Amino acid sequence: MEFKEEKEFLIRELKNSGTFDLKVLEAIYNIPREVFVPEFLKDRAYENVPLPIGEGQTISQPFMVAYMTQHLEIFEGCKVLEIGTGSGYQAGILSYLGCEVYTIERIDYLSKKAKENLKKASEVIGKDLLKNIKFFIGDGSLGFKNYAPYDRIIITAAAIYNKTQTFIEQLSDNNGILIVPEGKNLEIQILRKYIKNNGKIEVIDLDYCRFVPLIGENGWQED
Ligand code: SAH
Repeated sequence: MEFKEEKEFLIRELKNSGTFDLKVLEAIYNIPREVFVPEFLKDRAYENVPLPIGEGQTISQPFMVAYMTQHLEIFEGCKVLEIGTGSGYQAGILSYLGCEVYTIERIDYLSKKAKENLKKASEVIGKDLLKNIKFFIGDGSLGFKNYAPYDRIIITAAAIYNKTQTFIEQLSDNNGILIVPEGKNLEIQILRKYIKNNGKIEVIDLDYCRFVPLIGENGWQED
């Protein structure tokens, strides 16, 4: 296996920085992150940092991917909407873990590249990650009504603070979970978890984070 030492180092780092299910760590270990970053950054693929993927966008930090995945509380066959396909890495992790993934990206080039990345990653690990992923191009700042409701929604770009009603509406009312970075400025946001049950919404503030902005109709605005 390529990057074996780097992968082991990263997993140790994750274990030291939080509590993760073995399945989540296994996904991070097995999905080849080097496939999702530009050629010149391959050697840095297992550093616990976000990296540029072109078009001014980034692949999230492995810790953040593991942390969001953990808090999604996914189960085999659960239907997940991801807003912000980016490199396709997070979608790959979810597919690996048995989710049915709907992923939407506003930049056509990134969506196409994500598909290519996932095809390569599938070849490396000998498991078809594309089988469980549907790709869409468009503005996901209002969610994606076409296939709602979703068991889970994960937003991998910064949304405006307290403006997440449209996403919540598209969540399943039976333990639906939304994970979203929300903020008022682009330096720092708060990662929030919403749990929807029988019309009741529980909100949990998880941690600070920093994402690129969600751009679109219901997207980022500076205060
Ligand atoms: N999940 C990605 C990282 C995403 S970076 C990964 O695993 O690599 C955030 C992505 O959100 C960028 O690709 C950006 O183009 C996209 N994005 C921003 N606003 C969006 C919107 N309104 N709808 C869909 N995608 C959006």
